Amino acid sequence: MAILDDFKFEDLRAIKFGRFFKNRVNTSCYVFCLGQSMIDTGPPNQWHLVRTLMDEVRPRTLLITHHHEDHSGNAPLLQRRYDCQVQCHAKALDPLEKGFRIPFYRRLVWGKPHAGAKPVCFEPDSEGLEPIQAVETPGHSDDQVCLFFPNRGWLFSGDLYISERPKVTRSIEDPLLEMQSLQKVLALDFETLFCSHRGMIAQGRAAIQRKLDYMKNLRGEAETLRQKGCEVREIVQALLGPEDRFMYWFSWGDFSKKNLIEGLLGNRD
Ligand SMILES: [Zn+2]
Repeated sequence: MAILDDFKFEDLRAIKFGRFFKNRVNTSCYVFCLGQSMIDTGPPNQWHLVRTLMDEVRPRTLLITHHHEDHSGNAPLLQRRYDCQVQCHAKALDPLEKGFRIPFYRRLVWGKPHAGAKPVCFEPDSEGLEPIQAVETPGHSDDQVCLFFPNRGWLFSGDLYISERPKVTRSIEDPLLEMQSLQKVLALDFETLFCSHRGMIAQGRAAIQRKLDYMKNLRGEAETLRQKGCEVREIVQALLGPEDRFMYWFSWGDFSKKNLIEGLLGNRD
């Protein structure tokens, strides 16, 4: 457990908490602080470090991009400690208040999320701060938002971006919906991207465009092979190669190339 990165950009501070497993499994996550606003909370198993650093910031507002434990898991403890307001998407209200179950592998990586926050839906421009738009961007999760700061041209993308060329997805993710969300944010006037797992990407718009292009191409190639009569496992093998067995078994099949291809073909139940 460690602080893996800590940098400033203008008046923003970005701190990366987490672990490394030789980069094969994503085990670290950024928290961003702007004045006394905090974007996401870090994973619950990093609470001791989050608390120490946030004692300097004393956040008044927590903006949660989505309910996953690496983003929202410390919200109840932060709210209790600093009496701050927690803002999130309407669909994240319940998980943050009542808690939510996660598979064992996620508990191993991030820790068990805390319950008991008292969140409210996003209130744009609250407390007289600069304007912030919470843009609904489902796909990765149905409650995900990207936070757009129009005056700065900044976009906090939660888990919309993560990787330019994803090769696996979780069973709960919807890559077609994610493509729509990527297209949606490209309509916003931003240049700098802040990704919860990759940090700051100066040419963020181009990075989002490249991810969308990659997914469109992959979808097109998968559809062509399906029209030729190939089965899903043959399409996966042809376009992405064999499953990453470590990722597959570590996540009990939750992360797989098969999920990505099935999702792009609209084959999900
Ligand atoms: Zn997530």
